[in-house]
Amino acid sequence: MAKIYRDSDADLKFLRGKEVCIVGYGSQGHAHALNLKDSGIDVVVALPEWDKTSWEMAKKDGMKVVKLEEIEGDVIAMLIPDMVQPDVYNRYVKNKLKEGNMLLFAHGFNIHFNQIVPPSYVDVTMVAPKGPGPLVRRMFVEGKGVPALVAVQQNYSGEALQRALAYAKGIGATRTGVIETTFKEETETDLFGEQVDLCGGVAEMIKMSFEVLVEAGYQPEVAYFEVLHELKLIVDLIYEGGIYNMWKAVSETAKYGGMTRGKRIFTENTKHEMRKILKEIQSGEFAKEWILENMAGRPVYNKLLEIERNHPIEKVGAEMRKLIPWLKRE
Ligand code: NAD
Ligand code: MG
Repeated sequence: MAKIYRDSDADLKFLRGKEVCIVGYGSQGHAHALNLKDSGIDVVVALPEWDKTSWEMAKKDGMKVVKLEEIEGDVIAMLIPDMVQPDVYNRYVKNKLKEGNMLLFAHGFNIHFNQIVPPSYVDVTMVAPKGPGPLVRRMFVEGKGVPALVAVQQNYSGEALQRALAYAKGIGATRTGVIETTFKEETETDLFGEQVDLCGGVAEMIKMSFEVLVEAGYQPEVAYFEVLHELKLIVDLIYEGGIYNMWKAVSETAKYGGMTRGKRIFTENTKHEMRKILKEIQSGEFAKEWILENMAGRPVYNKLLEIERNHPIEKVGAEMRKLIPWLKRE
């Protein structure tokens, strides 16, 4: 049984009197900075000078903002895109780390794949919210919290876990629950989930089923509502009560058709491919590919993103969503 920490297991005192430097004011950065500040923690935001948008937003939110050259803090949270972290770390963070400081991540990639190698005299921890930044902020404001994973890679101070839990409490995560994991487990499962299920798998499933209907002569508008819009309603049922809860809610015909046909889409071959993808993640092959892709200026990434942007479902989708403007959120 996984170790799960709640509010009463975490104490903000482990961050009291400490300055927390949030590097980056994007999706996670802005949420962590605001939530920690509201929790009474001393926060400073560090940003590159060229990013005027982030800079102005942080200022407007009442944050103390400094340049990357001026990074300071007992806790330094790396909340910038994973692929730029090693460079920023080497140039601006490494030389600022003092004995007993804590370096914190929201994803284990750079530590697990040795792209950042911190000195032995600091704590290295992770608090990885299981939700996008805007939700981390919105839930906190509503008195709730997005669950998170916590991990300790290096425990120099002897209280690395308590400090990381204090951070998790400060952003609201312990209100729901914080599961203990390792950098390895978080990194590998996170990559697997986004590739196979959450982002990659779902996107291909939607596009392919849309194409089949449209190519067979059905109206794209009808196809859109059927394979994309309704997916949200189904996922909500699964999210709230599990897969069986969804089966209970749908019609008997949907139950029978779904249970007999779903297995023809996701076959033993699909499972075989999932295992191959997992192996590429575990061996570091995927990490190497993605790091090289970045070094080369992202040719494949840019091309694929452009293809996604131009898929016919985007065009009909944009029109259909105009009918339901109240769906819009961050
Ligand atoms: P993001 O893309 O929103 O970060 C944007 C911020 O990074 C901006 O403030 C920008 O000024 C700064 N930035 C961009 N390029 C920079 C550079 N070259 N040098 C310095 N600063 C730069 O990042 P994010 O999505 O919040 O991700 C931050 C971390 O959180 C990552 O490790 C990510 O894996 C993790 N994470 C993200 C999410 C999410 O929902 N986005 C969820 C869980 C974990
Ligand atoms: Mg992920």
